[in-house]
Amino acid sequence: MTEAGSPRIRTFSYHYRQKFGRSVGKIPLDVGVSCPNRERGGCIFCRPAGFTPHYLSKSDDLARQVAAGKAGLLQGRFRGYFAYFQQETCTAMPAERLLPLLREVLADPDCVGLILSTRPDCVDEALLLPLAELVTKSARECLFELGLQSVHERSLAFLNRNHGFADFCQAAERIRAAGSFQLGAHLIFGIPGETEEDMLASLAEVCRQGVTHLKLHHLQVIRETPLHDLYELGRVPVFSHGGYLDFLLRALPRIPADITIHRLWATAHPEYLVAPKWQILAGQLSRELLEKMAELGVWQGQLAVQDRMNGR
Ligand code: SF4
Repeated sequence: MTEAGSPRIRTFSYHYRQKFGRSVGKIPLDVGVSCPNRERGGCIFCRPAGFTPHYLSKSDDLARQVAAGKAGLLQGRFRGYFAYFQQETCTAMPAERLLPLLREVLADPDCVGLILSTRPDCVDEALLLPLAELVTKSARECLFELGLQSVHERSLAFLNRNHGFADFCQAAERIRAAGSFQLGAHLIFGIPGETEEDMLASLAEVCRQGVTHLKLHHLQVIRETPLHDLYELGRVPVFSHGGYLDFLLRALPRIPADITIHRLWATAHPEYLVAPKWQILAGQLSRELLEKMAELGVWQGQLAVQDRMNGR
């Protein structure tokens, strides 16, 4: 905390403890659809198993997945959870099939809301309008976490995202217009060819689009992906752990203080991770970052107002 009693970083756990008066977690769930971008070769960094929790099997129905998540992940530490549809692109499932699944999950009194992780080109009105009604009636939260990674078209092309920044802006507009939803963006730092200025520009631009939540992390090279091939050719420089923390010390002050930050680094399974291998646990990284922030007198939002006034 700062001397004024506000958090140095508005983390997911801080934000929702303030909001609900209790700790809530996330249970990753899989509706079993595959991402439409796979038909176009997929994003060059993506390998589904690289980020799948060990207990999650898409052949299980949602009730079984939730039960496994409660037992395996929450382990009594949390008194509520977000159903986190993180695998693949859940909204690629037709709305008439997806909505009953979401309704089923929201019927669990322990579920405080939904997080739908998706692509900007997979957010249709056919889902948004009935889902807004469902969310309002159930008095829960629903966050759309839009994968973007970068606002720079050359980076999106390099990653084989097969969408542009304009798609993100249009999806953000539709989500905001439907009401009832929170808007989040997912960015990756360290995309080859991007400078620090480019990364900070991505951050500033998504904040200008009205996001209330951010998922941020460094680029990780996962085994047997096209990015791995490029890494083997020496074409993918990666962050050192110190270099990345230094970057975060410069980036966090530019993020408005009211934006909730869900993550700041990636944590792929060690068996799939090629680089960077920092040999440090996430909890230790977090402690190091907060110690450096305290030492340097840095906090989230410190420069955001100034940047807005300067039109950055
Ligand atoms: S859009 Fe997401 S799930 Fe689909 S290939 Fe890219 S990173 Fe993987």
